[in-house]
Amino acid sequence: MSTSSTNVSSEHSNRVVLVGNPNVGKTTLFNCLTGLRMKTANFPGTTLDILSGKLSLPSGERDLLDLPGLYALDSANAEERVALDAILNNDSEKPALIILILDATNLVRNLFFAAQVLRLGIPTVIALNMVDLAKNSGVHINYESLESHLSAPVIPLVARKNTGIEQLIDRCETVLSENTAPALPKLLVSTENPDNNMLYTWAESVYESSVEHENATLGRKTEMADKFFTHPIGGLLAFMSVLFVVFYLIFSFAGIPMDFIDGTMGSFGEWVGSKLPEGLFQQLIVDGVIAGVGGVLIFLPQICILFFCLSLLEDTGYLARAACVMDKHLRRVGLPGKAFVPMLAAHACAIPGIMAARTIEDRQDRLTTIMVLPLLTCSARLPVYAMITALLFPASAAKGAALFTGAYLLGIIAAMGMAFLFRKTLLKGDMQPMMLELPNYKVPSFKTAFLTAYERGKIFVRKAGTVILAISIVLWALMTFPQAPVPSEEFIQDIPINGTQVVQQPQSELSYSFAAKMGKGLEPIIEPLGFDWRIGVGIVASFAAREVVVSALSVIFGVEGDGDDTSVLLDRLKEAKRPDGSPLFTFASSCSLLVFYVLAMQCLPTQAVTKRETGSWKWAIFQLGYMTVLAYTASLVTYQTLVALGMG
Ligand code: GDP
Repeated sequence: MSTSSTNVSSEHSNRVVLVGNPNVGKTTLFNCLTGLRMKTANFPGTTLDILSGKLSLPSGERDLLDLPGLYALDSANAEERVALDAILNNDSEKPALIILILDATNLVRNLFFAAQVLRLGIPTVIALNMVDLAKNSGVHINYESLESHLSAPVIPLVARKNTGIEQLIDRCETVLSENTAPALPKLLVSTENPDNNMLYTWAESVYESSVEHENATLGRKTEMADKFFTHPIGGLLAFMSVLFVVFYLIFSFAGIPMDFIDGTMGSFGEWVGSKLPEGLFQQLIVDGVIAGVGGVLIFLPQICILFFCLSLLEDTGYLARAACVMDKHLRRVGLPGKAFVPMLAAHACAIPGIMAARTIEDRQDRLTTIMVLPLLTCSARLPVYAMITALLFPASAAKGAALFTGAYLLGIIAAMGMAFLFRKTLLKGDMQPMMLELPNYKVPSFKTAFLTAYERGKIFVRKAGTVILAISIVLWALMTFPQAPVPSEEFIQDIPINGTQVVQQPQSELSYSFAAKMGKGLEPIIEPLGFDWRIGVGIVASFAAREVVVSALSVIFGVEGDGDDTSVLLDRLKEAKRPDGSPLFTFASSCSLLVFYVLAMQCLPTQAVTKRETGSWKWAIFQLGYMTVLAYTASLVTYQTLVALGMG
C-alpha cells in the first residue's frame, strides 16, 4: 500500500502544528496538550488569531500552534492561506510535526483532507478524535487497517475526556525523533497532482475497507430532530424561541455582576476623587476616564453570557440547523448560502463577519453580503440596547428580552431587505447553490463555553481599556472646553439654546463646550427623530464606536461627578427634560434612538475593513451613506408614528 519513507530536513524547527477540519476538536486537544497554557497571537501579516502554547515532550518543549480549521488545502480562503503559507511553505518555519486531527464521525470528508495533508511530506501523526461519538452512532473503525492505508500512526482519541492523550504524546515523540515524513499512500504517489475526484475516490475506498457501519437508533433520532429544527416554520419558531431564551438569561443573570461592577466603579471613582486635589485633572480622571470606561465595562457580564450561550448552542450542533433554516430565507432575498457564516459572525462583530465573507467566490454575492453585514446586531450594540431597555422596562426581564429580540430581528430584516434591494439594482447576478453539512448533536462543553466567554470578555475589556478610554478622554475635553466664562453663585440662569430656554445648571456649563456646539448644530436635523442636542452630542461622539454613546451620555447627563454610576445615569435620563418641561426620553424617543442604533453605521474600524475587503473607499462610503439614510428614515418613521399613536 505504501512507498518508502523519506527523511525530511526540519530538524531546526521546534514547531508542532494542529491541523484539521473545523469542529473536529482541535482546540479541545490543544487545551489537553498544553494544559491551557495558551495565548492568542496575531499571526504576522494577518489579523487572524492563532492559539499558541507549549507542548511538553520527554525530549523537551515544543511550540504548539492551533491552525484555523480547513476543509481543504487548495480551497482555503485568503486568510487561511496566509497562515498556511507561513507555516507550511516557509522552510525556516516548516513544522517539525503535524498533528492531523480527523473526526471519526465524518471520516470520508476528513480522509479527503488527510490525503492533502499527507502529501505535504511533513512528519505526521494522526489523531482520530471523537471515537466515542462514532462508537455511539454504530460506526466501528479498524484502526490498524486505517493506519496501514494512511501510512502514518493513527491514535484514537476522545479529546474531550482526555483519553488517548498519552499515547498521542508518545507517538509524537517517536515520530519527531525519527524525523521521517509519512510514506505516501500509493494512490497519492502515482500521480504528480491528483485532482480532488481522485482524492475523494481514495478517501471512500479507505473508508470502505476500514469502517463497518451498524444501523443505530441514534440515526433515526437525529433525523427526527433535524426534521423539526430545519422545518421552515417549526425551525424558524425554534430559532426565535432560542434567541428569546438567550436574551432572557442575559437579563435575569447579568443583574448581580452588573450591580457589582457598577458599585465598584462608583466607589472607585469616589475614592480616586477624594485622593486627588480638586481641579481639572481630578475631573478628567473621575468624570472622563472612570465614568467613561465604567459606563461601558458594566455591560461585560451581558456580553460574556451571550457568548457563553452562543458557544453552547454551536456545540450542541443546533446552530448548523439554524443555518439551514436561515439559508432558505437568505436565498429568497438574494444572499448566497455561504453568507450565513459571515452573518453569524457579524452578530459578534461586523469585522470578522466581513472577513469571513472572503469564502464567497462570486463578487456580486460577496459585495452584497459585505454591504449588509454591519446591520446585524454586533456586541458593541448591546450596551446601547441594554441602556434603552433599562430605561423603558427597568422591572421586566420578559419585556426587556422582547425588546432585545425585536432589535435583533430588526437588524436581520433590514439586512435582508437591503440585500434584496441591492440584488435587484446595483448588484445583479445569478445565485450559486450551497451545500451545508450538519454536524452530530452533542452534549455541549461548558469548559469551551467558559473559555469562549472569557476570551470575548477579554477582547471587550481590552477595547474598553484602549479605544474607549481614548475616546472618553477626547469626549471629556470636548465637553469641558471651552469652560463657562463666569462661574457665578447664581448660576441658575436662563441660557438660550436655539431660541428656547434651558434652566438646568449642569447643562449650562456644558452648553459652552465644543461638543454642545456640534450637538446644537445637529439639533434641527435630529429633532424630528425626537432627539435634542444632548443626544446629538452622543451621536457625534459615538461616530467612531457606537458603544461610546453610553459613556458619552454618562458624561453629558452626569456632569456633577457621579456619572460612573449607571443607575444614576438612568435616573438622569429619566429626569431629563426638554425645554418645554416634557420628558426627553419618552417611549417614542427611546424607541427611535434604539432603531437609530440598530441601523446606523457608527463604527470606524468596520469602514476601514470594508475598504480593505472591497478594495475601494467607494463601497465603504456607500455603506456609511446608505446606513445613515436608512437609520435616519427608520427613526423618523418610528418616532412620528408612535407620537401620532399617542405614545410620545
Ligand atoms: P475545533 O473547532 O476543531 O477547535 O473544535 P473544538 O475543540 O472547539 O471542539 C468542538 C466540539 O467537539 C466541542 O464541543 C468539544 O467539546 C467537542 N469534542 C472535542 N473532542 C471530542 C471528543 O473526543 N468526543 C466528543 N464527544 N466531543 C468532543
